[in-house]
Amino acid sequence: MSKLRTPDMIDVTGAAGTANAAGAARPLIDGFARRISYLRLSVTDRCDLRCSYCMPERMTFLPKRDVLTLEELFDLASGFIDRGVTKLRITGGEPLVRRDIIDLFAALGQRLGPKGHGGLEELTLTTNATQLASHAEALFKSGVRRVNVSLDTLDRDRFHQLSRRDALPQVLDGIAAAKAAGLKVKLNAVALKGVNEDELPDLIAWAHGEGHEVTLIEVMPLGEVEGERLDQYLPLDDVRARLESDWDLSPSAHRTGGPARYFDIAQTGGRLGLITPHTHNFCDGCNRLRVTATGQLYPCLGGAERVDLRAALRSDAPAENLCRALDQAMTIKPERHQFRMDQRGAQPAVARHMSMTGG
Ligand code: SAM
Ligand code: SF4
Repeated sequence: MSKLRTPDMIDVTGAAGTANAAGAARPLIDGFARRISYLRLSVTDRCDLRCSYCMPERMTFLPKRDVLTLEELFDLASGFIDRGVTKLRITGGEPLVRRDIIDLFAALGQRLGPKGHGGLEELTLTTNATQLASHAEALFKSGVRRVNVSLDTLDRDRFHQLSRRDALPQVLDGIAAAKAAGLKVKLNAVALKGVNEDELPDLIAWAHGEGHEVTLIEVMPLGEVEGERLDQYLPLDDVRARLESDWDLSPSAHRTGGPARYFDIAQTGGRLGLITPHTHNFCDGCNRLRVTATGQLYPCLGGAERVDLRAALRSDAPAENLCRALDQAMTIKPERHQFRMDQRGAQPAVARHMSMTGG
């Protein structure tokens, strides 16, 4: 491992000096009695695509000096694991564009173990898959078993238009490589009015034919983008009604603890997830926190509340101060998001783009 300590140098019982800090064993429980067990950690806000619902073409990225080092990201993740986080998703921006990112996966993989052992139970990532072909095997070797790949269309021209880059062939190669490496692939597609709505049944049928689960997501008003958000918004109740005119959808007993509701489709033999922040609020069972690549902890995707973990990490007593900062986050996690998708010309619900907090 080039810059990060090699996994065999990491003491996984007291990783990065955080495990035995005062209060380290105390679980993270917020003011609404929700137990936090899931962290989404962004490792960069940069990306090689420019999806039009996510960011503008001329996006301003964070100065690199503000971004946490791989060591700091590892220490930070360890601090969360020591407080009962069992599921860790690496995200971005595009996580696989970060240099030496596999080193971080390899180090974090050392904290994986069976359910109930007190460490990490799942290490995963969300990716646009443009670089997945060259990283799939190394990810599997690090202990990753599942990847979420964002794929909104199977049409090359449409992909080019939507992401502003002609990268669909690389993405499909990446998905195939992940499958070949033994990674389970879950596809996420943002349902976009007048953009991919006509294609969603084909996308679902293709994914299920390949053995991949698919989840559709309603677009959220995060950050300024070109164009009107309301014009992008496609309520998933409408999509579901249209799918039901051809297919039999039955509610699935499958649960992940996340925001998706699942349906089994008889005709495709696959599972469909629906993430509906607007039509069905999902905040009651929220078990997650999000941290940006600069170490800003946002307890809610739809809120501006934050705690600065970088300051804690770079202080004289990082372990204690990180613990304290996490306690503080528990007191400010809001009960629910305040997204609205019913006003033309409205300001974004929050100023930061999804590429900052990750998904
Ligand atoms: N670059 C990676 C990718 O696209 O998978 C990871 C980061 S991306 C921000 C994570 C997810 O957020 C993607 O599935 C993307 O489609 C979704 N996303 C981005 N902006 C969104 C928005 N405004 N509303 C809903 N989902 C959004
Ligand atoms: Fe990049 Fe992902 Fe945002 Fe698309 S959705 S621009 S791939 S961060």
